[in-house]
Amino acid sequence: MKLLVTGGAGFIGSHVAEHLLRSGHTVTVLDNLSTGSRRNVEDLQAYDRFSFVGGTVLDAKQVNSLVKEHDAVFHLAAVVGTKNCIENPIDLIHSNIMGTDHVVTACFEHGKKLVLASTSEVYGRSEQVPFREDSPRVFGPIHSDRWCYATTKTLDEYLSLAYAKRGLAVTILRYFNIYGPRANQSRYANVIPSFIRRALNHEPLPIHGTGEQTRSFTYVSDCVAATVAALAPSADGAVINVGAEEEISIKALARTIIRLSESQSTLVHVSYEHVFGRGHEDVSRRVPDASRARQLLHFNPTVTLEDGLRKTIEWY
Ligand code: NAD
Repeated sequence: MKLLVTGGAGFIGSHVAEHLLRSGHTVTVLDNLSTGSRRNVEDLQAYDRFSFVGGTVLDAKQVNSLVKEHDAVFHLAAVVGTKNCIENPIDLIHSNIMGTDHVVTACFEHGKKLVLASTSEVYGRSEQVPFREDSPRVFGPIHSDRWCYATTKTLDEYLSLAYAKRGLAVTILRYFNIYGPRANQSRYANVIPSFIRRALNHEPLPIHGTGEQTRSFTYVSDCVAATVAALAPSADGAVINVGAEEEISIKALARTIIRLSESQSTLVHVSYEHVFGRGHEDVSRRVPDASRARQLLHFNPTVTLEDGLRKTIEWY
């Protein structure tokens, strides 16, 4: 197949592109390199079935013509993360809503399958754990920027499902904390890359709040397998959690990373307010019910957290 991966020079997108090329597909990556990098797709240049287009999903015309030329689209381009929405809300809202609008409407117009990257953030601070796809979403007040990213992704889901009712073939994947080589290492990095970098430098690891809050972490190759499986028509119209069901506290995660990287780092407690500003709300547990992913995507994570962390640490 001829496949378009938006955000394909980013962390997850570059692994998706690589997997697709290895499986014999022709792949085009569209990326504006805002958080992605050419280095992430350097090895892919070896395939003559690979092409890179430097551009933005905010360019409706370019998106439309690219979508028209391909059989299906993986839409991963986004301005990512909760810190980003506190510091760059306008950029984030434009990219995640208008960019997705361009991709979704082009897929609808040209009758192409769409796999849309959404996030576990859409459950907000719901206490109904593990999260099922039909669990209620609980967002904080409008004045809390904390929920801005989650809101844009929720709107992307609604838009895609509205087009699905008119015939768009779309599968929405709600990723839960994906980690592995090439993860964003900027100041907006997720917890694992930021802990690993600090541990390797023997710097203190900052624990927000008590550190007793739990998350589930999924190694990128397991996420990619689920993402590619979502191309199947049997997953059309579905919203699916993609995440391992194993739960670990942030404190235990930090200690595991210190042990595996043979680091001298210590843990230091930092208040949420110090990092995110006043009124920041966090979620005490964020764990998926992955039954639907097992059923529709044959999701069966094969990489344990310890093995995945080891591979990630080796990559640094
Ligand atoms: P990433 O920042 O590495 O990848 C995003 C990519 O999109 C980058 O390469 C960036 O340059 C590109 N991009 C941003 N704006 C663009 C634009 N306007 N036009 C074209 N390209 C643009 O992040 P990631 O972790 O690989 O995330 C990929 C997708 O998965 C995102 O949609 C994100 O919301 C979603 N997601 C990721 C996680 C995770 O744990 N990593 C969790 C939930 C959801």
